[in-house]
Amino acid sequence: ITGRFEGKTAVVTGAGSGIGKSIAERLIAEGAIVVATDISAERLDALVTAVASERLRTVSGDVAASETIAAILEAADGVVDALANNAGIMDAFVPTAEITDEQWDRVMSVNLTAPMRLTRAVLPGMIERGHGTIVNTASEAGIRAGASGTAYTASKHAVIGLTKSTAFFYGPKGVRTNAVAPGAVNTNIEAPFNSAWAGERLGPIMGTTVPAPAEPEELAAAITWLLSDDSSNVNGAILMSDGGWSTI
Ligand code: NAD
Repeated sequence: ITGRFEGKTAVVTGAGSGIGKSIAERLIAEGAIVVATDISAERLDALVTAVASERLRTVSGDVAASETIAAILEAADGVVDALANNAGIMDAFVPTAEITDEQWDRVMSVNLTAPMRLTRAVLPGMIERGHGTIVNTASEAGIRAGASGTAYTASKHAVIGLTKSTAFFYGPKGVRTNAVAPGAVNTNIEAPFNSAWAGERLGPIMGTTVPAPAEPEELAAAITWLLSDDSSNVNGAILMSDGGWSTI
């Protein structure tokens, strides 16, 4: 499959590593101009070297900061055809009674508020052109408990609400919004286990029910499908890409 994104500009957040890096690589391979964003400038430099394409543009910065969102729009020359809200952070598997305010606020701001703000920023142009696609990276933790800590679980459930509500409001204007919910994936995401109680609750469940980790390219295939016109009849879907974990 080539050329699905010829002449299109796509934005990918968290593009320096893991799933986001694979999305950026695949979009470049399929013809897009890609604005790759990450909080790590080093990772973006490595991506530039690996991809070696003049269609790759980079913006380093915290996607939760409004300056970064403005810089992304500028790098895209104001035209974003496809948006992958992918950057996300874990919560150290902390259960409700052990959450600090700092941890809650940071997880919510990166995983939920940033995708909302970036979506809000690209929507006017998409509506004006009558066409646009948005894909949010949710998680197994977006549909159930027992896959992460409470802050992460709440943030990813909210990402699913953001996805469905945006799909509902803007589908009639030609803008499709969907989410992919990964199970375990081989990436660099930091997943420390900071709670004995969470370990006691999650250990037996996760030890027996989680399928083998997927590779980031498998997630990028699903996400780019939803970003492309191949999925023209799909809006507001939450596509589980979890090796069947959610069937258990
Ligand atoms: P990763 O850590 O390998 O890559 C994420 C990238 O996002 C990193 O390069 C990081 O520097 C960047 N990033 C983090 N915070 C940022 C911020 N505030 N601003 C800009 N960039 C930021 O992780 P990944 O596993 O590829 O995660 C991608 C998405 O997939 C996340 O939303 C995550 O919640 C979700 N997810 C991952 C898994 C998994 O098992 N890896 C499972 C379910 C969902």
